[in-house]
Amino acid sequence: MKISAPEELDEIRSEIRNITSDIIRKVQKRNELCKQVGEIKNRLKIDVRDEKVEQEIRLLVSNLSNEIGISPDFTGRLLNILLTESVRLQLKEQRDQTRFENHLTIFSKAKELEAAGKKIIHMEVGEPDYSPPEPVKSALSSIFELKRYHYTETKGIMQLRTSIARMSSNGLNPNNVIITPGGRFAVFAAISSLLVPGDELICIEPAWPAYAECACLLGSTVSSLRTTLEDGWSPDLGKLANMINPNTKMIALNYPNNPTGKILEKKILNQIVSIAKDHKLYILSDEVYRDYAFTKFVSIMEYGYERSIMVSSFSKGHAMTGFRVGYAIAKENIIDRMAKVQATALTSVAEPMQYAALAAAEISPAENTDRMKRRLDLICEKLHEMSLCFAKPDGALYVFPKLWDGLSDHKVVQRALNLGVAVAPGSGFGGQYGQFIRISACQSNDKLEEGLDLLNAVLRSN
Ligand code: PLP
Repeated sequence: MKISAPEELDEIRSEIRNITSDIIRKVQKRNELCKQVGEIKNRLKIDVRDEKVEQEIRLLVSNLSNEIGISPDFTGRLLNILLTESVRLQLKEQRDQTRFENHLTIFSKAKELEAAGKKIIHMEVGEPDYSPPEPVKSALSSIFELKRYHYTETKGIMQLRTSIARMSSNGLNPNNVIITPGGRFAVFAAISSLLVPGDELICIEPAWPAYAECACLLGSTVSSLRTTLEDGWSPDLGKLANMINPNTKMIALNYPNNPTGKILEKKILNQIVSIAKDHKLYILSDEVYRDYAFTKFVSIMEYGYERSIMVSSFSKGHAMTGFRVGYAIAKENIIDRMAKVQATALTSVAEPMQYAALAAAEISPAENTDRMKRRLDLICEKLHEMSLCFAKPDGALYVFPKLWDGLSDHKVVQRALNLGVAVAPGSGFGGQYGQFIRISACQSNDKLEEGLDLLNAVLRSN
């Protein structure tokens, strides 16, 4: 007997419901097993992420997809969502037992201690202690008179975008620029507009934690390429090439680097760009420390690669952290996508702050560069006297020394804080760096010397 079309539809829908229920039950079972794995790893004190195991399962899924004729791109994204959930569950297992700390949590603790009357030397955050350029003051004081307190175009005021395009590279125009509330939001807008859940982002560690946090928040997966002090913080390009799979969509670069101060050699950057081109990957190049380069620095913009996004900011070079003005430069189609995120989230950057940034944009931060270099030299000298190993920074605001054997970042950071100096734990920049601390040079020489003497006392008292 022939069944009618509506009956057939009902039957198929019922089967789809059953299959969906089966999938959900299986996912539940998978998550329970992942939790058990998390508990065991916690007991064994081993890292949650295991790239070899991930590669094996990725290969299995890719082979199966080809065998049964389902898109490997789709199953790869699905797998990444499962892997992300597995990592989340396992990390939760660990975090329930060890409190997670990074430079921001230490900053909050330091602020609490200060509020309670304790004197703290802040060597944990990257916030220059000097003032913004003088013309910023007059730009701000004329805001009311000039009635510059309205919504602006989402991408930012034309004068500022024009000024940034002109200063940044030949052939750019204001449509290649978006003004964002800090470089941080430019990172968020780039990742959220270019990646979908299940896509993969490669981070080169140690790294400023925001790239991974942002990708995870948005349901993307993060793969970490670890670098070492022994290798001068240079990425292994063979490993990088091997990490790429069909779901890899973006590489995050940050040079001059937070926390190591490393600047990539041009020939290494050439190869990274070439790998990205081969696999059509986006390159998110966070260059917020570009004004603090003490050796030759090559910007991603010099390559004219159509899938690159350069992020920068007025926070560091012009000492304007609280103004919250950053920007991104990319092809117009990418800027348009980022602008949609910005329009949805916050309309535009505050107009007074954009005019303040416009005043700052005309001022070269060279004086700040020299001052920072002298401070970093001072820190390096003192760390050397303390027999700590580190790579001399090529740029940025930090030194990332390795602690003596037997010392852990959390213990040292806590004891230092008790003594009145705040530094950042290395593990906040990647799980492998628990034997490092990050020291920020954003204080006067006198304070830096005092802070480092206190740190020395902490290390010696162990
Ligand atoms: N990128 C890196 C590497 C940083 O270290 C920071 C801040 O510390 C930022 C971006 C964010 O800067 P902004 O104040 O412009 O949001």
